[in-house]
Amino acid sequence: MHYTTIMHNDEVKQNILKCSRCGLCQGVCPIYKEVKDEKTTARGKLMQIWGLKKGDLELNGKILNNLDLCLNCDKCKLNCPSGVDTTNVFCKEKKLSTLNKFLTSDFIFNLKLSLLSIFAIQKKSPRYDKNSKILYFEGCIAKKLKQQFHIKGTKLANGEFKCCGLPYLTKGREDIYKKIVEYNEKIIEKADVVVFNCATCFSAVKNYPFRNPKNKEKLVFYTDIYKNTQICAQKKLNVTYHLPCHLKSAGIGMEEIENLLGSIKNINYKKMEKAEDCCGFGGDFFIRHPILACKISLKKARNIVDTNSDIVLTSCPTCLWSLRFSMFVSKYVFKNKNTPKAIDMADFLNKYCYIEDNSPKQPLSKEKELIKM
Ligand code: SF4
Ligand code: SF4
Repeated sequence: MHYTTIMHNDEVKQNILKCSRCGLCQGVCPIYKEVKDEKTTARGKLMQIWGLKKGDLELNGKILNNLDLCLNCDKCKLNCPSGVDTTNVFCKEKKLSTLNKFLTSDFIFNLKLSLLSIFAIQKKSPRYDKNSKILYFEGCIAKKLKQQFHIKGTKLANGEFKCCGLPYLTKGREDIYKKIVEYNEKIIEKADVVVFNCATCFSAVKNYPFRNPKNKEKLVFYTDIYKNTQICAQKKLNVTYHLPCHLKSAGIGMEEIENLLGSIKNINYKKMEKAEDCCGFGGDFFIRHPILACKISLKKARNIVDTNSDIVLTSCPTCLWSLRFSMFVSKYVFKNKNTPKAIDMADFLNKYCYIEDNSPKQPLSKEKELIKM
């Protein structure tokens, strides 16, 4: 079967031609680190896509698998000296086997979300202030889990957004993605600020092809609002942090998180080895490639357990489930009964911490000025 590209021919082609084949993407790819197969790196994937487009290669099961072995972690894109938009090419050229089409179908996606809702700790949805123009972007998982996201002293309205669209984009369903972008941008247009607590949603929306570029400036990750606020934990705790890949690709790195955690009284922040390494779950990657996902996840677990922390924090629901899974498994694999508890950092700030009354409360950014602390 010959592979023909219907859409995006030029954009994809331009990106592939930009690749100098330097191989720097190899060293950062979490998949390559496990399988040691060049064909799974960004460079390898690009060359296979190019071969298919030119007709030099024919699509077969092996190539499908090589292209599918991707966590969409953006590490290759962030480290590419030639500026190749690797993950964009992979999304646009996505091809799935029949089994993987089923595993990534809306039916399985909704089933997964419904199963997650069983674990909802809160049975009621949180209360919002309908009149606020500070909108909360509640991701699909937070919605199902009825996560009680709020920012102390700030009135938030639930923006009632649709899914961020990334699950559709990464499956090559750009038609649905475009409709989602259009719908969500109309809501963002009416807001002063849109606050996120999910790294993946934040990164996905920051990458929207906005009609009005000013709408991008309204997007804020909640950690920005807590900057310059004196937070105190209710008791002494050893805490470590796993950086979600998508938080990094949205422009928030370890330094920013460490500055926040390091400023919290009563917290002893313990940096884990390779805090920026992927957790291995990558959206629904763990459904399609469970063994590989577990291998990557357990490496992360080893680094977490070695910190001897009480708590491991993160800022992405998928990473959180990955960490909860790996901490549970670690009890048996590493024979360590005191594995850290995995908690979403926004939940941690709300439930384990308080803001001191004499906190400086000075706004840090244009967005923050709009938010009354
Ligand atoms: S780092 Fe960029 S330019 Fe270098 S091989 Fe990878 S994709 Fe190509
Ligand atoms: S996005 Fe991540 S997993 Fe996929 S090829 Fe790039 S580095 Fe590897």
